[in-house]
Amino acid sequence: MRRLGDWHALERAPTAELRALQNARLARFVREELYPFSPHYRRVFDEQRIMPESIRTVDDLRRLPFTTKQDLLAAQIDPARRLDFVLQPSQEKIRAHWPLGKKLAVLLGGERKREELRFAYTPNFVTFTTGRSSDPVSFTYTPHDLDVLGEAIARMFDIGVVNALDERLINLMPFAPHLAFWAVTLGGFTTGRMILPTGGGKVMGTDGNLRMIERAKPTCLVGVPGFVYHLMRQAHEEKRDLSKVRTVVLGAEKVPPGLKAKMVEHLEACGAKNVRILGTYGFTEARMAFVECPTSIDTSSGYHVQPDLGLFEVVDPKSGEPVAEGADGELVYSGISGHGTCVVRYRTGDLAIGGQTWAPCPHCGRTLPRIASELKRTSEQHALSLTKIKGTLVDLAQMGVVLASMPEIEEWQAVISKKNDDPLELDELEIRVAPRHGVSAEALTAKVRKEILAANEIAPTRVQVLPLDELLRNLGMETELKEKRFLDKRPK
Ligand SMILES: [Zn+2]
Repeated sequence: MRRLGDWHALERAPTAELRALQNARLARFVREELYPFSPHYRRVFDEQRIMPESIRTVDDLRRLPFTTKQDLLAAQIDPARRLDFVLQPSQEKIRAHWPLGKKLAVLLGGERKREELRFAYTPNFVTFTTGRSSDPVSFTYTPHDLDVLGEAIARMFDIGVVNALDERLINLMPFAPHLAFWAVTLGGFTTGRMILPTGGGKVMGTDGNLRMIERAKPTCLVGVPGFVYHLMRQAHEEKRDLSKVRTVVLGAEKVPPGLKAKMVEHLEACGAKNVRILGTYGFTEARMAFVECPTSIDTSSGYHVQPDLGLFEVVDPKSGEPVAEGADGELVYSGISGHGTCVVRYRTGDLAIGGQTWAPCPHCGRTLPRIASELKRTSEQHALSLTKIKGTLVDLAQMGVVLASMPEIEEWQAVISKKNDDPLELDELEIRVAPRHGVSAEALTAKVRKEILAANEIAPTRVQVLPLDELLRNLGMETELKEKRFLDKRPK
C-alpha cells in the first residue's frame, strides 16, 4: 500500500513540478508498459510509426489517435482481440524493453520477484461500464490497480475533508460490478475508516437503509443523488436522527445546486449542522474518480485530478484539437499508473463547461489540476442524453436539472412515448411530479410547463401530479439499481 505521505508533498507542489512529474510518469508508462505489453497500443504505435521513446510530454501524446468506446466494443466482441487492451507482460518483452537494472532484478529475483510481478500485472478483479445504448465493457484490475484505486479514493476523502478521527461512512451506492460501489468500499479499507456498504435501495429498501443509518450514526453518506435525496426526505418525514452527518458525497451523475440545497434542508431538519455536499466525477475507463473540495452550496471548486495517476486533455469535440486552458471541450483521459485494462487518449464523451485549469484551487489552495464541474454529454457517444422529441433535439440531462432544482417538487419522472403507442404517431412527453407538502397541484403544473418550455424549447404534452408513493414505485426507487428518471417507451 502506498503511503499518503507522498500525497501531502504532491497536493500543494508547484505546478511546474507537477507537470514535470506527470510527463516523466507518462514517458515511463508508455516506454516500459503500454507499448511493450498492450497488444492494442503496440499495434497503434507501429501503424502510426511512432517510437514509444519519442513520447516525453503530454503534447507528444497528441500524435497518438484517440481511443473510443467503439474501439473497446470492437475488441471485446472479437475472440482473438478480447484482451487487446489488457497489459500482458512476458519475460521476452521485459528483456526487450526494460532498462538493465530493472530487468536484471526481475530475471535474477527468483520466486519473490515472480510473485511481485504477478501482483503487478495479473488481473484479479473486474468492473463493467453501465451500458446505456451498448453492451457493457469490462475493465480488469490487478492487485496493483486496487492499490492505485484505494490511494485515489483515500486522497478524495482528504480533499473532501472526510478525514477526522471519528469518521464513519455509509456507502449507499448500489451493489453491482460497477466502479462506484467498490471504489467507496475500498476507500474505507485503505483509510482504515468504518465503512458500511448497504448496497442501496434495491438490496435493503428505504427502511433498512434508514435503520442502518440511525444505528451507525455516520458522519458521511456516499451515494447516487436520486436515492440519497429520497432517503433524506424520508428521514425528515419520519423525524429520524441524522445529527452526526456532516458530509454527503454524491456520485454517478451531475448534481444541480438546487438539489444540493434541498438535501441540506432535509438534513438540517434531522439535526445535522454545517453539512457539505460534494460532487464527484468518475468513470469505469479511468478506474478512479475525482472530487470537489468543500465550498458553499452555490459554487463548485471543480473536480481535483491526480496528476501522477492519470491525465486529462480537453479537446474540441468536432476537430479533436486541444482547446485553451479553461475553455469548454471534451475530456480525453489517459491513465499513466495502471495495469490490467489500460486506455490512453480515451474520449469520454463528456463536455466540460470551463474545461481544465492548473490554477491553484481558490477554496483549498491545492495545486492539482481541476476539471470544471459542469459536464454535458457530447451527442456522438451518448445518444440517449440528447434525444429528439416531437422533432426537437432535447437535452434530457438539462431537463433533469430543471426538475430536480425546483423547490416545489419532491420527485419527478419524464416519460417519452408515442401517441396511442402507434409508431407512426407523434411523440408525447409526459412529466410526472409529486409536489412537496402545501404546494398546489394547479400552480405546480403551470410552473413545470413554463420552465420546461423555457429550458428545452418544447412543451410537455401533459404534466401529471401523482402521490409521492406512486411516483416512487414508478421510479423503482427500491426495486431498480438506478431509478428510472427518463422512460423512453417509444418502439425502437
Ligand atoms: Zn480545492
